[in-house]
Amino acid sequence: MSDVIPEKRIDLDRICNQTFQETALEVLSQLFNDFSPEELEACVASAYGTNFDDDAITPVRQLGSDYLLELFHGPTSAFKDVALQILPHLMNCSRESADDKILVLTATSGDTGKAALEGFADVDNIGICVFYPYQKVSDVQELQMVCQKGSNVGVCAVRGTFDDAQTGVKRIFTDQAQIDAFARQGISLSSANSINIGRLVPQITYYLDAYAQLVRMGAIEKGDAVDFCVPTGNFGDVLAGFYAKLMGLPVGKLIVASNANNVLTDFISTGTYDRLRDFTKTISPSMDILVSSNLERLLYHLSDGDCAYVASLMADLAEKGSYTVSGELLARIQTIFSCGFASNAETSAAIRSTFESTGVLIDQHTAVGKHVLDRIPSEGRVRVLLSTASPYKFPADCLAALGSNPEGMSGFEAMDELEGIAGTTAPVQLSSLRTAEHLHTDVCTIEGMPAFVESVAEKVFR
Ligand SMILES: *Cc1c(COP(=O)(O)O)cnc(C)c1O
Repeated sequence: MSDVIPEKRIDLDRICNQTFQETALEVLSQLFNDFSPEELEACVASAYGTNFDDDAITPVRQLGSDYLLELFHGPTSAFKDVALQILPHLMNCSRESADDKILVLTATSGDTGKAALEGFADVDNIGICVFYPYQKVSDVQELQMVCQKGSNVGVCAVRGTFDDAQTGVKRIFTDQAQIDAFARQGISLSSANSINIGRLVPQITYYLDAYAQLVRMGAIEKGDAVDFCVPTGNFGDVLAGFYAKLMGLPVGKLIVASNANNVLTDFISTGTYDRLRDFTKTISPSMDILVSSNLERLLYHLSDGDCAYVASLMADLAEKGSYTVSGELLARIQTIFSCGFASNAETSAAIRSTFESTGVLIDQHTAVGKHVLDRIPSEGRVRVLLSTASPYKFPADCLAALGSNPEGMSGFEAMDELEGIAGTTAPVQLSSLRTAEHLHTDVCTIEGMPAFVESVAEKVFR
């Protein structure tokens, strides 16, 4: 947690005249005040440059009567790049000594692993090791990881589910003998998931920058409130929007859009969070989650920092599988957040209708948001839909939504077909995977994970 957030006030006049990079520097300097200005400047310069394929980094475009904030122009074509392109540089600066070695372990269901690999590749004295569930990620996602370059990276498929891989990683984090063995070699272990505040704070930037773009486009007057609709899983992205609001950005409603795993829709509607329900595998897999870790941070803020109360709610969640917040807290939540969800069929229908009515092709995660946005009555404010991934990451499901039959097609055939229909070009970092060398073909069992981690440490740090 950062208790300084509510005290920080942004200067709207200045934000509206700044580049993305200047705003990023301002956000980071306010919230990470234990870094020197020179350090942060260097981090921002390394993170937000030509590695994004749009000069604006996160451009805003019109989408019918609303606006689309495109967060997928980074090296892995998903919004997680905005944070994971800078986190490795921040971690590098925060080391006590330049000789300290850090090994980052990550289990992934698809997007986080690749974004972490890309961010940490070739960063000095940091190694990155990613485990993904064997044969349980999309063709394109698997190739993104299998073809990852870098002298400090390790990638391994695990025979099991994502949960098995995650459990395996957690077991390594808590194995004292293993931790001690690494410590003797000067290596400490770390993680790259969104419970790390270093992944949340950089995301505040694009809310401020999107607002500035709207002012410069003439879509709003400076001072007008804007609504943001956010496709949500772990509540990290939308929480950054809440932080932007706390810092003084004129935000109307934050709309939390869920897929069929609609635990957050129920929570925001009723005040009861209940994770005891069937887990549904959807066509928006990065939002398939029943325990949204970052919600705890929101409860902390909206209960005025009542740690004992939040701890009691979290204990209920762990022990009984559910908790209910007070009426007062629910009322506070509902003045800030709206919510809704989309089934698979509704998600596909939103891709198709958006393409037919605007000519813009959106991916499944963004489409969940579009469905929800279209059903929430506008309160007269300008509304921005966050677009979290490129449709070319999930070409087969996009094709199916548009009415083509992707059966029997490889990921690349589906990509070609999609280019023809949409009249756009797949990001080169995805299409070039077709001919990229397969560098990481290891497959291990859960029990084999510690040995793989040791082999990566050996390779990276010797
Ligand atoms: C991770 C992810 C989300 C969900 O973001 P949270 O911060 O976990 O709420 C949505 N869409 C895509 C494409 C993602 O990769």
